[in-house]
Amino acid sequence: MRCRKCGENAVIYISQHNIALCEQHFDDFFLDRVRKAIGKYRLFPKNAHILVAVSGGKDSLAIWDVLNRLGYRADGLHIDLGIGEYSMKSRDITESFASEKGYRLIVVDVRDYLEGFTVPLAAKKLRRATCSLCGLVKRYIMNRVGLEEGYDVLVTGHNMDDEAATLLGNIINWQVGYLTRQKPLLEKRHEKFIPKAKPLIYLTEREVAAYAIIRGINYVEEECPNAHGATSLEYKALLNELERKHPGTKHRFYHTFLGLNLSFDGVDTSRDVKLNSCEICGYPTTERVCAMCRVRERLSRLRGE
Ligand code: SF4
Ligand code: ZN
Ligand code: ZN
Repeated sequence: MRCRKCGENAVIYISQHNIALCEQHFDDFFLDRVRKAIGKYRLFPKNAHILVAVSGGKDSLAIWDVLNRLGYRADGLHIDLGIGEYSMKSRDITESFASEKGYRLIVVDVRDYLEGFTVPLAAKKLRRATCSLCGLVKRYIMNRVGLEEGYDVLVTGHNMDDEAATLLGNIINWQVGYLTRQKPLLEKRHEKFIPKAKPLIYLTEREVAAYAIIRGINYVEEECPNAHGATSLEYKALLNELERKHPGTKHRFYHTFLGLNLSFDGVDTSRDVKLNSCEICGYPTTERVCAMCRVRERLSRLRGE
């Protein structure tokens, strides 16, 4: 297989575009796709102070690397969730990457927000699904730390496969409210809401993995133990099967959806939902007290039991 651009040995074949590329031209392609997402959706300006949510997986490490290579001021935020070996390894790999590259990394221990409990222990105490609690806690910490530390935007490593799988799930379950908010950029809607951007939406999981390998990035390959059996993984597998038979399906499915900019009669869009300030912490909520403060209150009561 030869590179379409220069005829050298190709390292990857990209079926969606029907091209093979060498290492150098794949790197150019990758950076171009990130630039395209930033430009097309006006994700952030060149001088923005960016905080990247870094889990230690390939996607977040890759986008952190790319943004710095493109000349952005991008620091990292890692949340230690306290999920046994998996969290220890994730933290270790993220810290090593940051020190090797000389990037600033903020590490937050989830126990500081959960009355001393880790995510799995708090979920058990509260009799709540671990991933639902984990999602809530991560969103809260990312938003709060991003604002407290003075960042302009929070970047996450969601790639096209993640977004297409989420879209499929939202359609299967007709989660119309989520559909209206599934965008590459979530703008500021409250004084204590940090905009959130997804610059990897033009790149597939396979392309991100190839980038990480070519750049010699050491990342956590294992999934979180709680991800086992997640429907999102089934949706990804289904979409991969379709992609194999009909190259370009994922891109068409997700990017046509974005282009349509759908609205649904009678459904609140992200602009319409009224956000109040939580009476305890001041961060945005649709209720009087935010979900995170309610979790903390319950945990502090349960701690003694
Ligand atoms: Fe959290 Fe793991 Fe669930 Fe992801 S899979 S939401 S990291 S508990
Ligand atoms: Zn080439
Ligand atoms: Zn609160």
